[in-house]
Amino acid sequence: MTVIKREDMLDVLDSYQGEITVATLGSHSALQILKGAREEGFRTIAICEAGREEPYRRFRAADEILVLNKFRDILKDDFIETLRKKKAVIVPHGSLIAYVGIDGIEELLRVPMVGNRSILRWEADRSAERRWLLEAGIRMPGETKDPREIKGLSLVKFPGAKGGRGYFLASSYEEFVEKSEKVRRKMEARGEEMGEATIQEYIPGVNMYLSYFYSPLKGEVEFFSIDRRYESNIDGLTRIPAADQTRALIEPSYVVVGNIPIVARESLLPRILEMGDNIVKVSKKIAPPGMLGPFCLETMVDHNLEFIAFEISARIVAGTNPYMDGSPYSVLLHGPGMSMGRRIAREIRNALDQGREGELFT
Ligand code: AMP
Ligand code: AMP
Repeated sequence: MTVIKREDMLDVLDSYQGEITVATLGSHSALQILKGAREEGFRTIAICEAGREEPYRRFRAADEILVLNKFRDILKDDFIETLRKKKAVIVPHGSLIAYVGIDGIEELLRVPMVGNRSILRWEADRSAERRWLLEAGIRMPGETKDPREIKGLSLVKFPGAKGGRGYFLASSYEEFVEKSEKVRRKMEARGEEMGEATIQEYIPGVNMYLSYFYSPLKGEVEFFSIDRRYESNIDGLTRIPAADQTRALIEPSYVVVGNIPIVARESLLPRILEMGDNIVKVSKKIAPPGMLGPFCLETMVDHNLEFIAFEISARIVAGTNPYMDGSPYSVLLHGPGMSMGRRIAREIRNALDQGREGELFT
């Protein structure tokens, strides 16, 4: 299979003659993407999976709702033809990656995409992502594949462990062996592949998910918002008294169920801005044309006020969903009402107006 060429997608975009419809999968951050597109004057399409379309209908989220049997059917030739006839451009998000997959996005989804298609692979590949962040001067947790190297408290992550389910903590090789056997049995019972574990130094601290928007038109990184995840069962465990926790031997899990807004101590902002700038700078080298549009740096902040990043998302994250009506930072730059979804649409609008589509789409 060959990777979709940027020029080909720009030709498709050209054939739309400026009449663009903003389309996205009905999931993840679709509500704000669609709302924002509408606010910037675009027609909108929600591409839903049968059985998951109700929220998009009920909230009248899009001008048109297209229902597929499976999200992955978005890759079928006739559906791609339909999208092109409707002059659609796709806004990618976490569910597009989770359900359609990077290969499909890079090789088969022949519809113009907002942002850099090829950079999505970097977030899905732990070692590529690590190179990127380290080169940007961002600290990361120590990491190993060899359980015999476990020194202190470590977080064990399996590639198959979607959304933090099946993560576990281990402080020694023996504990790793015992717990991974348990996880293996559970995952096999669900028909999931376990794959090779990544063992990460556990960073004590609090988590901050930093969302940014890089505007290729302005050549500037805008800091957008901060959230933390609300995760089951880890965020509920602290409600159980310590003695009962110990007796019940409950294993923590990190399954995302929602997001909670955060505002940072103001003195943290210089470092936050610097990290965003560095990420964009390095991205231009590793995956030209580099980061375009929204991205998120997922960090722990320790008691020395240092940011330690354990992941990056090279597209909008659902952690911007609490800011449907703007964030405490977007209001400073854009005034009220600027969601990340709307910011994406604003960039599309400006690119069209200035004839600079080539700088935003791939
Ligand atoms: P879903 O459509 O809810 O099954 O989610 C698809 C992908 O996006 C999964 O990998 C989720 O872990 C991720 N995801 C969905 N919602 C959120 C959220 N609110 N915060 C963080 N990640 C999310
Ligand atoms: P992830 O699925 O990698 O986004 O992480 C799921 C949860 O584990 C989040 O609550 C993170 O804050 C937490 N987490 C991930 N990596 C680490 C780490 N190295 N140290 C401490 N917490 C972590």
